[in-house]
Amino acid sequence: MPDRLYAGYVFDLDGTIYLGSELLPGAARLVRALRDMERKVVFVSNNPTLDPEDYARKLSELGLPTPASAVINTVVTTTEWLAANAPDATVFPISEEPLKRALRGRGIRISEDPPEIDIVIASYDRQFEYRKLQIAFDAIRGDRHARLMATNPDRFCPFPDGRGEPDAAAITAAVQACTDTSCELHFGKPGPVMLNAIAAALALAPEDCVLTGDRLTTDIQAAREAAMASALVLTGETDPQSLTDIPDQHRPDYVLDRVDRLMPAERWAELQWRAETDAPAT
Ligand SMILES: [Mg+2]
Repeated sequence: MPDRLYAGYVFDLDGTIYLGSELLPGAARLVRALRDMERKVVFVSNNPTLDPEDYARKLSELGLPTPASAVINTVVTTTEWLAANAPDATVFPISEEPLKRALRGRGIRISEDPPEIDIVIASYDRQFEYRKLQIAFDAIRGDRHARLMATNPDRFCPFPDGRGEPDAAAITAAVQACTDTSCELHFGKPGPVMLNAIAAALALAPEDCVLTGDRLTTDIQAAREAAMASALVLTGETDPQSLTDIPDQHRPDYVLDRVDRLMPAERWAELQWRAETDAPAT
């Protein structure tokens, strides 16, 4: 358990704050207490199938009122990167509607016509089909040699019952396999585009911040790359067993069985928290 408070708290969402449509134990009281203590709280997700408004609505409905501005996900990072670095590019997003809506909203041109496409964006797309793969194939192999980028590097998205769904890495791999091209950039954790977005949202020195998540390869690595403290919660994807054989330099600073253990022990009494109370959403 940490023995200090930080100025900034970055939280992954799935498996850290909630799982499916339920807040995880202690999440609500922790976030409320941090806000009361005027700590900066930012939520971060690699999932591009929702936009920040959707996340804000979901968190608010679960009892954790949150403005969209406190949520950064790959819809935001992808759109902002393109607007800043390739504003005139025509893109073909293999994605669901929230990313397309954000791109259009930012004035970025979308096309399904291969000779027009400059950048193919592989994403988490539950309507993925052969037709889309053919468009990406033609765009990359055609005279324009479209570039390949991805919203996020995740192989699958975990579900509460241990199941899951194929994520953007599967779509990226399909495009790479048939074009012999590699994906040159992604916009999620632990990549530099997402880390810069997090740093800009916090506007704090990294050593005053802690990033908490349930995945070693995205969340904990992102914290390390950003030079922030890292906390792994065991309420999502990582099982405690897998921690035994990771090298020391990849080990998170804190390992927590529930997210509210981020609060230093000495604060629990004044907050009137009891460890044995599992009271959700309080
Ligand atoms: Mg997660």
